[in-house]
Parts: sequence; C-alpha cells; structure tokens
Amino acid sequence: MCGIIGIIGKSEVTPLLMEALKRLEYRGYDSAGVATLVDGGIERRRAEGKLANLQDLLERQPVSGRIGIGHTRWATHGVPNEKNAHPHATDKAAVVHNGIIENFQELRDDLEAGGRRLASDTDSEVVVHLITRYLEEGLAPEAATAAALRRLQGAFALGIVFAGQHDLMIGARRGSPLAIGFGGGEMYLASDALALAPLTGRIMYLDDGDQAVITGAGATVRDAAGGRVERPV
Ligand code: GLU
Repeated sequence: MCGIIGIIGKSEVTPLLMEALKRLEYRGYDSAGVATLVDGGIERRRAEGKLANLQDLLERQPVSGRIGIGHTRWATHGVPNEKNAHPHATDKAAVVHNGIIENFQELRDDLEAGGRRLASDTDSEVVVHLITRYLEEGLAPEAATAAALRRLQGAFALGIVFAGQHDLMIGARRGSPLAIGFGGGEMYLASDALALAPLTGRIMYLDDGDQAVITGAGATVRDAAGGRVERPV
C-alpha cells in the first residue's frame, strides 16, 4: 500500500504533485504516475521505477493543469510496469488506489461482459470502469462513485477526478488511510499527512467508510451510511 496525492490548485499542480510524491517515497514503491485535466480532458503520465523516471518523462512530455492526482504504486496485482501504474483512467474519470480490491476478478468479468476493455492487469482498474459505467447511466460523479463503492470488497483509499470537472475531486476510504488538507484557496487529498506537510497544517482525517467531495472551496463528507458528517480539522 503506497501513496496517494490529489490537488485542486490555484496554479499548475504537476510540480506540487511531484514534490508530494517525493515526500511519500520513504514508503517504497515500484512505479508512479500523475493525471491532470487539460481543457476538461484527462492527461496522464506514468513510469515504471523511480520517480526520476516519471520526472524525465514529464520533462520530455510536460503536462499542465490546475487539478490533478498522483500515485506511487506498490504492486499487488500485475507486475510493476507503465500500463499497470496508476492513475487508471477512462475518457470520463481517473483513479488512484491504495489497497486491494478483493472481488476484482468478478467485477472485471462483469465489466468485460458488458463490452468494456480494461488496459491493465491490476485489481484497481475495475474501480474507474465501474464509476464510468454509472456516469454513462446518468449518475452524477458523487452518486456514480457511491454506487461503485457499494460493489467493492477489500481495502482501499481512492482519489478520483472527472473529465470536464475542474473543481471536483472525490476521496473515499475503507481500511486504508486518507486525509484532506485545507490550503489558502487550494485543497488537497493524501494517503499520508506527511505528503502535505509543506502545503498545509490544516488536515482532516477521514473515518473508515467515508466518501468526501472536495472542491476549491472546501470538502463535504458522508459516512458509509450516506449521511453528512463533520470530521475535525
Ligand atoms: N492493488 C493495487 C495495485 O496493485 C494498488 C497497490 C498500492 O496500494 O499501491 O495496483
């Protein structure tokens, strides 16, 4: 279980995502990646091995954007390579995941029977395809995510961004830690408060089962039963 970072920023987020991933390096990892929104579309850069490889890729193929998610992966399902590195994405959403989706094979079979093509060997990728399926059925991002989470068994912390939604990030956790950071006009999501240390000292820890909707203006949290809850900052 490795590192997650998410930022809704005031300026370009890729350098901030990379700095936060560096602060998560101590946990160990085998690959890394970032996804941002550019003109509403999801842009990804992923690389096997050290963050320096991802940094090199970003120098050759820079990616802009004021909202983004990043991940350092410790592979549990699927070898460490670029295609298995997170974020996983469709044209509608991108997801970073820490943990293990235990029923991923059954979900994958179901998604593939419905005509979806998954690109990786990970357990994690089913999450973004499930969310996409619910978005295509007409659910809004928060409801689509909640519907997908109800299908998942296992342990997870998740960070999700949505195509066309420059001011929206969703975080959710069950069995893996996740914190939200409040900056001056910026908002953060991280698996480990250390990742946020230079960015903000105002941290909210999600409880197990929580799903949080984060915008530049703040965060609203619902518990596993779907009711609005306040968590201390
Ligand atoms: N189980 C996922 C994978 O193998 C996530 C691993 C992690 O927590 O980094 O991609």
